[in-house]
Amino acid sequence: MKLHYIYHSCFVVEADAYLIVYDYWRDNGEGLLHRLIEERGDKRLYFVVSHFHEDHYNPEILGYGDARLLLSYDTVKRRRVPKLLPFISLRPGDEYEDEYLKLQALRSTDVGISTLTTLSDGTTLYHAGDNNNWYFLENEEEHIRCSLDEMEGLFISIVREMQKMSPEVDHVMFPVDPRLGNEMLRGAFQWLRHIRTAHFYPMHCWGRRDEVNRSLEQLRELFRETDFVEIGGE
Ligand SMILES: [Zn+2]
Repeated sequence: MKLHYIYHSCFVVEADAYLIVYDYWRDNGEGLLHRLIEERGDKRLYFVVSHFHEDHYNPEILGYGDARLLLSYDTVKRRRVPKLLPFISLRPGDEYEDEYLKLQALRSTDVGISTLTTLSDGTTLYHAGDNNNWYFLENEEEHIRCSLDEMEGLFISIVREMQKMSPEVDHVMFPVDPRLGNEMLRGAFQWLRHIRTAHFYPMHCWGRRDEVNRSLEQLRELFRETDFVEIGGE
């Protein structure tokens, strides 16, 4: 299994029998996503969408006739996904399973869902969607519909729920958003304190790659068992 980073919050799991595309918004500069899709042969193609926001969803995915669409309920509704398409709509608590994978939909501090995917060989992948501790000290207009304390409480309760379900995860794709300034690692830090994470991949970076990669150093010092993967490579 290979995990490719595309752009912003988009990743592709490439396995022998399938591709799983998470939160496709834009391809990378080299057109990697489209190349993987075009060259997939008879591999099954999955698109997972965590929520309807523009930076997590591209309607182009509806054009792949043979794809399995695993869409959060709000995406179906807000993006008016045609009922004729054979999509699967997911709410927190829902589960999808087939011969290759099991996907569990979990809560998010923002809209939609986050997801825990378990592959048939037991490998686990968590994609946060917009689940994060959105602790905006400044730029409050960016996000907050609740107080910072409420935000933090909600986030911690979601992480604890996750901890009960799966205290260890192999691959974690999680927001490290430079717009949060000094608090950009707050959610990641809290996540890592609760969930043993083998490989951590920052996302939701708006293309601000260098800042985000530099910030990982602080996490590396604290969580020595975790491999922090810089954006840019695969
Ligand atoms: Zn987002």
